[in-house]
Amino acid sequence: MPSTKHIIIIGAGPGGLGAGMLLSRRGFKVSIFENHAEVGGRNRAIRLGDFCFDTGPTFLLMKGVLDEMFSLCGRRSEDYLEFLPLAPMYRLVYADQELSVFSDRERMRAELNRVFSEGGDGYERFMVKERQRFTRLYACITRDYSALSAFLSWDLIRALPWLAFPKSVFANLGQYFHAEKMRLAFCFQSKYLGMSPWDCPALFTMLPYLEHEYGIYHVAGGLNRIAAAMAKVIAEEGGTIHTSTSVQSLVIQDGAVKGVKLADGSEVLADEVIVNADFAYAMSHLVEPGVLRKYNQQGLQKLEYSCSTFMLYLGLDKLYDLPHHTIVFAKDYHTNIRNIFNNKQLSADFSFYVQNASLSDPGLAPAGKSALYVLVPMPNNDSGVDWQTHCSSVREQVLDTLGERLGLKDIREHIETEKIITPQTWESEENVYKGATFSLSHKFSQMLYWRPRNRFEELQNCYLVGGGTHPGSGLPTIYESARLSANLISKKYQVSFQDIKKSTWLKTNKA
Ligand SMILES: Cc1cc2nc3c(=O)[nH]c(=O)nc-3n(C[C@H](O)[C@H](O)[C@H](O)COP(=O)(O)OP(=O)(O)OC[C@H]3O[C@@H](n4cnc5c(N)ncnc54)[C@H](O)[C@@H]3O)c2cc1C
Repeated sequence: MPSTKHIIIIGAGPGGLGAGMLLSRRGFKVSIFENHAEVGGRNRAIRLGDFCFDTGPTFLLMKGVLDEMFSLCGRRSEDYLEFLPLAPMYRLVYADQELSVFSDRERMRAELNRVFSEGGDGYERFMVKERQRFTRLYACITRDYSALSAFLSWDLIRALPWLAFPKSVFANLGQYFHAEKMRLAFCFQSKYLGMSPWDCPALFTMLPYLEHEYGIYHVAGGLNRIAAAMAKVIAEEGGTIHTSTSVQSLVIQDGAVKGVKLADGSEVLADEVIVNADFAYAMSHLVEPGVLRKYNQQGLQKLEYSCSTFMLYLGLDKLYDLPHHTIVFAKDYHTNIRNIFNNKQLSADFSFYVQNASLSDPGLAPAGKSALYVLVPMPNNDSGVDWQTHCSSVREQVLDTLGERLGLKDIREHIETEKIITPQTWESEENVYKGATFSLSHKFSQMLYWRPRNRFEELQNCYLVGGGTHPGSGLPTIYESARLSANLISKKYQVSFQDIKKSTWLKTNKA
């Protein structure tokens, strides 16, 4: 039976849109309030004249999870989106070497043999063992941890050794690879969680494994098209998205959320409210002081947050011959990592990532021109760096470094249009607490039951979706968070729904 219950979702980021898709499909009345004029949050488009960029996500990993979201809504993702597998997936640039990374096993082994003296044997062992780890852990880490009893399951108990606690990703890779550069090729992905590979728990070795096993995808028009497609499904299922509509606060009575108060002062009531806005921002800005015990201002301060990013989006009147994705390692990788995570200061020598998506997707820039997206990991706003003061000097440094490390010496002459996002603007314009773009850190004490829960433990009738809740940051995990919260609400109102019993896209060692 369809439900007549009204669900409000604060934010039309990937988490809010994912929950909105599932719940509107299941017959709930869904109203999404989104601060910005366009849907997608950090996954929305930036348009500068005829150039188009993704704001944040550019790597679509675990495409199977996205496909499942569409199939749970009775649809096929490929009817809404054009997926482009990337080969090579990306190019890695060290101070003195380069490596092209392929998801095709043969090509990857050949490339490792070409670049590293230890060759590709470790890679074969990595693929076999990390497949086992992922197969054991995936179902366990994507289930609901609203109650401690979630730990009482045989599959989780059997999977515990695969957590390799308390090892880090970098340490875990030591069993496969000797050369530090080779380990870097399989651990820089910790930065996808805004973490250092020396601190990121070993289980996240699944990130490089997933890239190599399933490949990564671009979406024609940019990954922002995913958000637009999800919004389309919501509209087709009768849900409503109110863009340019900011929520000012949650309406709370006796510890239960009753609805939201909008910036214009009006109140909208609902049976359940899902918070997709960045978790720590929402708790510190949308809830009156004195209401929360654990996640009050002091509690939020005590948590650990991811790093931030400095973003430069460049519309260039020249075609640049760079791969779709290039990752450049700082010459002194350790020092750069320490500066980001420990010293919280700017680095003269930094790692960075460049996306040249118009190479494989010409529609993103006018003919003969390039749309370059440059991401530089930075300390979050705990650094105290005044970005008003430092923004232009960091921009110059980034342009110099593009010249020095990638040979784009003439780039300044070809800038037709540009946009910058600093850690400060992530916080002030995108409502991201401390500008920590990948949300709460994924250290063990902030995961599973210990991460803010999908059924929010401090307020009744309140659920969380997005990078700040369980299972964590990154598009596929955020879609999983949407699935968990939507299922919890559906169960509460006894609305029957289709769920994924066993993911068909998963490869096991028998495959
Ligand atoms: C630079 C960058 C690169 C990334 N790259 C990748 C990648 O390659 N692959 C990947 O899988 N992941 C990547 N991520 C991580 C993650 O997938 C994205 O950040 C994702 O968009 C987060 O989704 P979300 O739903 O948690 O939050 P958001 O996308 O931030 O959505 C939250 C929404 O809430 C809205 N909101 C906030 N406050 C209010 C309010 N008061 N009223 C109404 N609405 C409000 C916001 O406007 C926003 O639309 C990247 C992130 C960043 C920042």
